Amino acid sequence: MKCRCCGSEKLDLVLDLGDQPWGNNFISIESEEKAKDYPLKLFFCCICKMLQLDYAIPKEEMFVKHTYLSGTTSSLRKHFLEVTNYALTQINLEKNNYILDIGGNDGTFLEHFKEMGQSVLNVDSGLLQAEKCKEKGIPCLNNFFNQELADEILSDYGYASVIHGSGIFFHLEELHSVFSCVRKLLDPKDGLLIAEFIYLPDMIENVAYDQIYHEHLLYYSLSTFQNLLDLYELEIVDAIRKPIHGGSCIAFVRHKGKFAKSKQLNELLKYEEEKRFNSIDIYLDFAKKVKHNREILKNILSDIRSQGKTIIALGAPVKGSTLINYCNLTTNEIDCGVEINPHKCGTYYPGTSIPVFHQDDVAPPDYFLLLSWNFKAEILSKIKPILDNGTKIIVPIPYPQVL
Ligand SMILES: [Zn+2]
Repeated sequence: MKCRCCGSEKLDLVLDLGDQPWGNNFISIESEEKAKDYPLKLFFCCICKMLQLDYAIPKEEMFVKHTYLSGTTSSLRKHFLEVTNYALTQINLEKNNYILDIGGNDGTFLEHFKEMGQSVLNVDSGLLQAEKCKEKGIPCLNNFFNQELADEILSDYGYASVIHGSGIFFHLEELHSVFSCVRKLLDPKDGLLIAEFIYLPDMIENVAYDQIYHEHLLYYSLSTFQNLLDLYELEIVDAIRKPIHGGSCIAFVRHKGKFAKSKQLNELLKYEEEKRFNSIDIYLDFAKKVKHNREILKNILSDIRSQGKTIIALGAPVKGSTLINYCNLTTNEIDCGVEINPHKCGTYYPGTSIPVFHQDDVAPPDYFLLLSWNFKAEILSKIKPILDNGTKIIVPIPYPQVL
């Protein structure tokens, strides 16, 4: 195998999470279909220091039937609005400028720009997502972002003043093609690329191994993200950290040499250097903690079960699939799961026989296992009446514990 970023063959294994199905493959309870397993292993490139998966599930299998909708959580809507407002302090938009969102899901990020009267364009390969965009009046090209499509966009719309990609720059198998397209489409004068990704230092510090799944081929720090951008004459000039998704980073990127780097960016780069995120040791230590956390979580669950109590998994995020499969959880540990996204109700957690039902259809258990720990505050406030009635919460990340 070769490094996805620099092409080197010097890759060291950091963590093996076992063979797992695609984490979003929620198969209907009525179906006979079985989810296929694929290797889920994290590697470190000794040359460019990029953390990455070796195995990529073909993108057609993952993204066309995707059921994740950005608009479902209010935290995410609020987050996108904050990012938009921050971006507006960095760029002066004129009436005829347009904003391009790559993998923009149901168009949530673009809504605010549209309200401001700017032209917007989304590119998303998901059928459901494109349908949602249409309902909102946001133009969406229902396709994968590649050279051909980029040329089409350039000739129909011209340069993009702002290009946004949230949680996509680490999905893409054709990494280099995508970055060359971004470079081509970004206004050469003062175009701004906003790249949002799960911030690797946060993932490591939170022991958030459930952030590792097949859609995430790459795990960036600012320094390794810059190594990639170097190949395309692009440069991070500013960055902010946000708590969303359990710790994200938003990098503001320009054509190289045009803008000065912010003080805040330099401080983050210094922090990464001091904590030695460019050395494999920190990742090997992370892997040890992950194994330890699995044991602790399994012990907590089996203790509760031995008292005859009920446990229900709360939420069915992709990250939950990683956790459930890595910890080999079955209906011995968890009665079922509950969700509010109707597309996931009446299915099984990928690769398991643990069913997922609608939250309103299931009586509250003795314990909830909180899989969407990254939306903890929002979720706990929503289910406050249930908690007041005595249901307890098991939080698996960063350290398994009962609240
Ligand atoms: Zn490399």
